[in-house]
Amino acid sequence: MNQRILGMFTRPFGVDGQSLAMLAAALLLVGATGPGCTPVCEPPLTKERTPVEAADLPALWTSAAGSGLTLLLTEQPYAVSDAALDRVIHAIADQAGIQLQIERVPDSGLPAGERLSAYQVTSVGCALPWNGSGPVVAVVTVWDTGVGYGFIDECGPPLRRTVVINRARAESIAIGPITADDDVALTLLHELGHWLAVPARDFHRSAVDADQPTSNQHCTNAKCVMYKGSRVGLCAILANLTTGLPFQFCPDCAAELREEQARRAGNLNVARPRRFRGVVRPTGRFVREPMPFQNRRSLPCSDVCMS
Ligand SMILES: [Zn+2]
Ligand SMILES: [Zn+2]
Repeated sequence: MNQRILGMFTRPFGVDGQSLAMLAAALLLVGATGPGCTPVCEPPLTKERTPVEAADLPALWTSAAGSGLTLLLTEQPYAVSDAALDRVIHAIADQAGIQLQIERVPDSGLPAGERLSAYQVTSVGCALPWNGSGPVVAVVTVWDTGVGYGFIDECGPPLRRTVVINRARAESIAIGPITADDDVALTLLHELGHWLAVPARDFHRSAVDADQPTSNQHCTNAKCVMYKGSRVGLCAILANLTTGLPFQFCPDCAAELREEQARRAGNLNVARPRRFRGVVRPTGRFVREPMPFQNRRSLPCSDVCMS
């Protein structure tokens, strides 16, 4: 019995973990993981499977400019741990062939322990100093915004996004060996996956997201980091029971990431992702003054999801 995955998924639903663990064990013993409990836990937009070569993939990630991505990581009021960051760096390098460059921002100027508006946080993230070129994501971890476990939102410049991570939600599902850092890593990888535009094909896009723009759609495969965590039910729990948290892109999402990499390389026949070698450590630091909050207003978030 994998208590890690049970703990991960039972807390958000307010279900007693021990009771659900016993139920899951009973179902496994009687073989009740039938057709409805395969890793495909939500219906797709279509059953027609299309080749990855025909996938509609973003121009950014299929161009040379998309071979690297900078993360501006704020360290206050909450930091992303090095362990969580290493997991994300390796996953993006191994499965998307994109090298993450890390810059640390010591202080976001945002308070700890408070519920903030989504706009308040994204406006800070979008305004962090950045003098480089290429795509960049500000990662701002705050106590809570009330918007799922995290979300990604656009900034004014087209190559810029802000990911907001809600620390309170991550801590709320920490139980046993599952740590809040595990959920933070899962959330960050998931949100980056949204910008990378996976899932990109309708046969593994969830029909539950039919009313959402493609940039906010989720994978049908419960063993994929792009599955919408806040919709996890028994099917997804059983799918991950023996393997733990789904900290990877599923084969279909991974194929699309490889296709982006292949098109970047100008070689449609490239099938293998570039493997990450070694450990990327933070490359730069800079200090910014705390920023006053301005233009507070509600902001329509582009992604409202668990992780
Ligand atoms: Zn997937
Ligand atoms: Zn999502």
